[in-house]
Amino acid sequence: MNEYLSQALQTVTERNASQSLFLQAVTEVFESLEPILAETPDIEAYSILERIAEPERQIMFRVSWVDDRGRVQVNRGYRVGFSSVLGPYKGGMRFHPTVRLDVIKFLAFEQIFKNSLTGLGIGGGKGGSDFNPRGKSDGEIMRFCQAFMSELYHFLGESTDVPAGDIGVGAREIGYLFGQYKRLTKRFAQGVLTGKQVGLGGSLVRKEATGFGAVYFASEMLATRNESLKGKTCVVSGSGNVAIYCARKIQELGGTVVAMSDSEGSIHDPNGVDLDIVAAIKEVERSRISQYPQRRPGSQFFHGDKVWKFRCDVAFPCATQNELELEDAQQLVDNDCMAVIEGANMPSTPKAIALFREKDLLFAPGKAANAGGVAVSALEMQQNASLQHWTFKKVDQRLQTIMADIHRECVFYSKKYHRPDDYVFGANVGGFIKVAGGMQAYGVI
Ligand code: GLU
Repeated sequence: MNEYLSQALQTVTERNASQSLFLQAVTEVFESLEPILAETPDIEAYSILERIAEPERQIMFRVSWVDDRGRVQVNRGYRVGFSSVLGPYKGGMRFHPTVRLDVIKFLAFEQIFKNSLTGLGIGGGKGGSDFNPRGKSDGEIMRFCQAFMSELYHFLGESTDVPAGDIGVGAREIGYLFGQYKRLTKRFAQGVLTGKQVGLGGSLVRKEATGFGAVYFASEMLATRNESLKGKTCVVSGSGNVAIYCARKIQELGGTVVAMSDSEGSIHDPNGVDLDIVAAIKEVERSRISQYPQRRPGSQFFHGDKVWKFRCDVAFPCATQNELELEDAQQLVDNDCMAVIEGANMPSTPKAIALFREKDLLFAPGKAANAGGVAVSALEMQQNASLQHWTFKKVDQRLQTIMADIHRECVFYSKKYHRPDDYVFGANVGGFIKVAGGMQAYGVI
């Protein structure tokens, strides 16, 4: 390994010793950069690696709120502004009991390169809380969101930091957060949050964008091997926003989704998952996917099982980080799966990715394949800034173009450095080059 690279990696490791997810994300990006370090000595001269792996700012705060029984609850809130080189901090907020600084930092770091790949002038950030929305009443969700925003609003702004949703945060939560922002600042600053409800400043296609984008990316990737999703058997992990719209687009393009999941287990439906039923269970009733077989004869629920055990041609991990491990990857390989496209952030472990590469599966990393969500968030910012509201078709076409451009960029860098079909490499290098260029141009800050 290049000496500067290993030194920088060691510094980052020592400084963040207990943050294994963050180190996993940094290591993957840094290792991809080896060939460009040799030809770009300025990266070392300007300590770009040390700087890019240290967040510009990290905010942690107490969120106190009152539950329905009148008891005071305390959670921890986070917002990490990792890089504002390409634009205001941009990235979602995750409300989930597993949230800790390590999780937010890995997500914010990934977001720098993802956002860079979109080409839309957005920096990288992420936030969230260890608040668990499961089982909470609507009133509790609202009071939590209000308390959260009361602590965070000082730090936000259309050209400073623009949060959106992620796991546990959808249009309902964004609505409460925006309402409280407006109340505290007395500013109707729509562009300060994205993922808003359509009709209230939100963009059409934002809800669908991450899932649709992943499938557009998959189609581009399969086309390089003269393949398409038509007639393919697919599995999609998760059953949240990303998974549902990923599955919808697969079905629209003629593929069959035979399995989906949540944290309790997986459903298998050999006739193709009925997404209206999944959406009713997950989005309307906010219930568990184990309910599905009761409404759909011929399907089954497998408690504690992941979707990777079911035979498929193409797999879409759309749930959460490190959900696809080496043994899962082996199962996909044994079942002749040809491509894996990440709709979630960092869902495959490094060992799983190494196996895909060794076995020549097409593999699309999340920072390229799931960039459609944040890309349409940037289109929402454009619409808000210009007081416009674009049609579904217009936003969807832009999304398709953006995903095709990201695909082209990944292929360009992987070819340029003689790593054909290595989308991890292509995405990391393509995302990094623009940010590093900006860091040099702006001087040492
Ligand atoms: N949370 C999404 C992501 O991981 C979207 C962020 C956004 O729309 O700002 O990219």
